[in-house]
Amino acid sequence: MRPVRVRQAVLASVAAHAVGAAPNECCGLLLGRADEIDESWPARSLQESPNRFLVRPRDHFDALRVARATGRTVRGAYHSHPRGPAHPSRTDAAELGDAGLLQMIVSLRDGTPRVQLFEWTSGKFAAVPLVPVP
Ligand SMILES: [Zn+2]
Repeated sequence: MRPVRVRQAVLASVAAHAVGAAPNECCGLLLGRADEIDESWPARSLQESPNRFLVRPRDHFDALRVARATGRTVRGAYHSHPRGPAHPSRTDAAELGDAGLLQMIVSLRDGTPRVQLFEWTSGKFAAVPLVPVP
């Protein structure tokens, strides 16, 4: 699987969002290009809960608009697992909206945020190598 470069600022922002939203899950979008994520787009969750999230449609729309206006795409989505592992849950698989989006998960279970990236392929999530870049 091809690695995806992720700006360190994105990782820091996503981790800070997760910490700020705890004990609830946070969610947002990831802007960039095929093999690079260069901006995170925090979204409001319509379902404030420790084990669920629902991206507010307006925030998703805004992210799409900004991505298009800057020659990029909404490459992925992120959410946090305040008490769970940095791996998609069964709920995540069942409620997956757009299978074409990379899924970034931030776990706070071990005290310090842990971030992993996945893509949906052949009916399941597969880990995607994440390369932090300045
Ligand atoms: Zn999840």
